[in-house]
Order: sequence, then structure tokens, then C-alpha cells
Amino acid sequence: LQQSEAYAYFFRVRWPHGFVCPRCSHFAYFMITSRAAPLYQCRRCRHQTSLTAGTAMERSRTSLAIWAQALDALSKTHGLNAVQLSKQIGVSHKTAWTMLRRIREAIGRAELDSKLRGRTYLGLMFLGTRNLQPFVSHPQEHAVLLGSNIDHATGAPAVLKMLVVPPERLVRKQVVQDAVSSFVETHVHSESEEVVLLRRFALTIFSPLRKCFLRASAWLNTLFHGLGRKYLQSYLNEFCFRYNVESQGASLRDSLISVCLGKV
Ligand SMILES: [Zn+2]
Repeated sequence: LQQSEAYAYFFRVRWPHGFVCPRCSHFAYFMITSRAAPLYQCRRCRHQTSLTAGTAMERSRTSLAIWAQALDALSKTHGLNAVQLSKQIGVSHKTAWTMLRRIREAIGRAELDSKLRGRTYLGLMFLGTRNLQPFVSHPQEHAVLLGSNIDHATGAPAVLKMLVVPPERLVRKQVVQDAVSSFVETHVHSESEEVVLLRRFALTIFSPLRKCFLRASAWLNTLFHGLGRKYLQSYLNEFCFRYNVESQGASLRDSLISVCLGKV
């Protein structure tokens, strides 16, 4: 991908109906191309903006063409770790790692913006090293609250959200009310009328949530070796984002690009 093509493509995703001044919403602009990356100046208020100002790619030393390649590579696969991305697009491991971190931060913000509506089902599940004791957690075991509303046509979760539960919010491997409230505040729309917390017994029977969780668990194991708590939430966000884009029949590539061009 040529640099100029990348600019044109990002321009179309950022301003699908043509340029809009971020300060005054005016549509007429002129382009200043003397710098490394083009600037767009509003003809009414003279505000200057770049394609990446205020986005996940702001002040990145990586060119937009490389960003476009990375987002392309991510959207053509089920996910990439930093080693795989660095090989695919020919950048250093450190650059790939930094890009993935920024992309996952942008995904995390986007996932917070879209809320669950209708009746929400919630279940607690565990990732990592399992302790077979039912009431005592293993130190490498991570509790995750999984929430979804069900698409009644397919019986599958329509929109999926996951939230890592800190150990202090568990008692005998059950969530305390605080953890449920924090999930609801984070991911459930305020007009939603009902949240159903499924008991462990129900989760084996209520298979749609369980299936999603097993998919997420397999996805994490394939891509990321050894699950530290530090980045677990951002990986789960990416899994949910991919699931939600697919379930809505949207294009993963366009969704990734618009998320990365979203406001920070
Ligand atoms: Zn303006």
C-alpha cells in the first residue's frame, strides 16, 4: 500500500461524507502537504487537523501505510500476537507490540461505548490454571464475568462483553454483588430492564454463553502464551470486538480502522 493510498483510505473512513472540521463542523478545507503527513485546514475557522490527530495513531512514528498494513493483517486473521505481526508487516517486535497495544486500547474504548440492551445474561467463568477445588481459586486462575443478550432468531449471543473480576471480588469462587454492579455499570445500557445472573449449574445448561467462553479460552491459548493478568482484559476486549463485529455482519477491516480513527 502506497502512503498516498493509505491517506486516501483513512480519509474516507474518517470523513465518509467528506471533510468535517473537528472544531466548527465546516466542510470546506485546504490541504497543506509540506509536512511529513498532510494537514487539513478549515476554510472557516482555520483550525488545522491531521488524519490521526486525537486518534490511537496520534504522534506515532509508524507511517500510516504501515498502520494500514497492520490493520489489514489483523482483519484477515483471527488475531495476531506481536511476533506474528512483526513478521507479517516487516517491523521490529517492539513496533508491532506498541501498535497492538494502541489498537487494543482503541478497541477497549469502543467496547465501552456500545452497551448491552434488552435482557442481559451474566455468567462467571474461569480462565488459566484451573483449581479443581470448587471454592478455592488457583493463583493463576482468572475469574471473568461474561455477559450477553441473546439473539432470539439464532439462539446465540448477539453482543458479548467480558470483564475480568479481581480476586478480592470473589468469595468462595462466587462473585460478590459489587462485581455484578460494576459489570452492569460498565457494559449494560441504562434502559436495560433485566440482568439475569446465571448460577454455575445453569451455565452448563445455558450453552450459548459457555460456548463463547470456550472459544475465547481457545483463542487466548493459541495467540498468547501464559496469561498474565496485566493484559488479559485487553485481549478479552479484542475477542469480544471481533465477535460483535462478526455477529453484526460488519466488515472487520473497516471497523478496526474506524475504531483506531475514533477519538482518544
Ligand atoms: Zn473549522
